[in-house]
Amino acid sequence: MKIIYKKNDLIKFLKHEQNLGFVPTMGNIHNGHLSLVKKSIKECKKTIVSIFVNKPQFNKKNDFNNYPKTLKKDINLLKRLKVDCVYMPSEKDIYHDGINKKNKINSFSKKLCGKYRPGHFEAVVDVINRFIKIIKPKKIFMGEKDYQQYKIVEHFVSKNYKKIIVVCCKTIRERNGTALSSRNVLLSIKEKVVSGHIYNFLKKNKYNIFKNLLTLNFIRRKILELGANKIDYIEILDINKIIKPYRKSKKNRIFIGYYLGSTRLVDNI
Ligand code: AMP
Repeated sequence: MKIIYKKNDLIKFLKHEQNLGFVPTMGNIHNGHLSLVKKSIKECKKTIVSIFVNKPQFNKKNDFNNYPKTLKKDINLLKRLKVDCVYMPSEKDIYHDGINKKNKINSFSKKLCGKYRPGHFEAVVDVINRFIKIIKPKKIFMGEKDYQQYKIVEHFVSKNYKKIIVVCCKTIRERNGTALSSRNVLLSIKEKVVSGHIYNFLKKNKYNIFKNLLTLNFIRRKILELGANKIDYIEILDINKIIKPYRKSKKNRIFIGYYLGSTRLVDNI
């Protein structure tokens, strides 16, 4: 496995490989990331994983500074899977010409997390766009856990890079149901138990919520009772009607963004 820090070295290493799978990450690699990597290895000739904590997508300085960094462990995990290359660029390598806030992205970016993290998805799309220009992948693998992010990137890529496919990979969870996330290391044992309870509560009641047998206000109260400190949003969306072209069939999903202590978690069920 090659570890590359510089854009020009990466371009040389990739040698215009046509069947390239790309897995963008911010590190603190866990089984959720590894499931994306495994899928890429299965579907593509070469797999490249990036580890880059993208500062512009953080709204709070503290959140960026506290983002867990475990590079040595990450590299070992990726080595074991026989990834072809890990790209760990510097900020300068990526943002040599400054941040671009002018990419045209879908208005879904203003909803859910976007309401609470202004500019977040613009920054995500900017960095993915920069990676695409360097790597020129055939496929990009992203997690269903961050479904809003996947949808916005997928829409941007389909509009701007007709040949690149964005593959959505299912959410990997801990045994208690908590979606794996780099931020989970910031949770106390008690908070991890609470996040499991919240997931199981939503999963159990999902169809009653869809049928309006339980109101979102009731659900909100219950989640706070279970131990959440704050709920940014809990919404039901038909995922077939988020971004045009819509599909006829209905596929509802619950989207939630909430806090346990000072840690913000997102999930969709
Ligand atoms: P991150 O390092 O948090 O930016 O995540 C990198 C990629 O891994 C994103 O496409 C995430 O959606 C995906 N991902 C994160 N957690 C999970 C999970 N539990 N299951 C599947 N994919 C995930």
